[in-house]
Amino acid sequence: MNIDAKLALDAFKIDEESHIQIDEMRCKERCQTRYCLYVCPAQVYTLGQEGEILIRYEGCLECGACIMACDTPLAWNYPRGGFGVQYRFG
Ligand code: SF4
Repeated sequence: MNIDAKLALDAFKIDEESHIQIDEMRCKERCQTRYCLYVCPAQVYTLGQEGEILIRYEGCLECGACIMACDTPLAWNYPRGGFGVQYRFG
């Protein structure tokens, strides 16, 4: 089974509030690297038309890569109990 097939088996219980918060102005105006756009395996971070960082936290795989890569303060917590990704095959 390849990685895409494994990821397709994951389930998500989506919370109504995001477990990821960014400083939107700082990301837009001060961050030159935008590592979040490249390191996230779930493509949670995308670039908006105005150059802003958009977040689709619902698909977060809780890997922690963005926390390690981010150059600006990133507030990331695990989703509240019972919410988030459920891995089915490791
Ligand atoms: Fe993406 Fe991993 Fe960060 Fe979740 S924890 S947003 S999957 S890089």
